[in-house]
Amino acid sequence: DGKELLKKTSKVKGKGKAKAEMGGGSFQSMGLHPSLLRSLTVRGYRTPTPIQRATIPSLLSTPSTSGGSGNGRDLVGMARTGSGKTLAYMVPLLHKLGGRHSVIHGARALILVPSRELAVQVLKVGRELARGWRDAGEGGKHEPEGDDDMMAETRGTGGLRWALVVGGEGMDEQFETMANNPDVIIATPGRLLHLLVEMSLSLSTIQYVVFDEADRLFEMGFSQHLTTILEKLPSTRQTVLFSATLPKTLVDFAKAGLQDPKLVRLDSEI
Ligand code: ADP
Ligand code: MG
Repeated sequence: DGKELLKKTSKVKGKGKAKAEMGGGSFQSMGLHPSLLRSLTVRGYRTPTPIQRATIPSLLSTPSTSGGSGNGRDLVGMARTGSGKTLAYMVPLLHKLGGRHSVIHGARALILVPSRELAVQVLKVGRELARGWRDAGEGGKHEPEGDDDMMAETRGTGGLRWALVVGGEGMDEQFETMANNPDVIIATPGRLLHLLVEMSLSLSTIQYVVFDEADRLFEMGFSQHLTTILEKLPSTRQTVLFSATLPKTLVDFAKAGLQDPKLVRLDSEI
């Protein structure tokens, strides 16, 4: 059962205690890339929420004692809906990827979500924050706003490229998106599995994997899909699971698919 995992829980009960445990914690104190920090400010994210304070620093740290992949420690984050879990995994993702397209690497991050709607939301949050990089250095050309145009981000050369792999998109578009060598894939499990089979899509370059709304992923019966996807990911990846609840099926999945995860639970309404 989940006792072993739950033993390592670092419970954060209230704001004061959270601050004490995390040693304060502003975005400024997290050692984030300056472009990312500026982007957070511009977007109105002035101070991290409790779940962000409790997770971002450990997702960023790559202790030399943690097995040597250099990709950082696995983590299970549990907090209520609306507590800010998207940025809790998106900020480390953008910091790690550096906000620029990589020609050599292939997709470096994978975000799994239970629905197309959530995928679109997550894409929006990620693209808006990543936009700071393009504006920042090297006098790079400013890319147009255009949140309605899902393909726009794949046309630029400098900025991070995002792929939306979800049901409802035409398969032709899906092939085109993947041919664009995306840095980040945001996917629903069914469609991703389909592409793995139909396109022999490789996930061997993925370094950072997120299961967002993991409880819903399981409620929707994606369990077998997720296990298959896990098997196709490199063992050196960093795996992150965020959820509003932590049922036993999820604990079991985390124990099988994550390596010695840190468990962060915010039980109280903050
Ligand atoms: P969850 O995934 O936990 O349900 P979201 O990531 O969707 O929560 O965030 C909920 C809302 O809080 C969003 O509108 C988001 O823009 C806002 N939010 C998240 N982090 C911050 C922050 N640090 N400062 C201000 N608003 C934030
Ligand atoms: Mg969420």
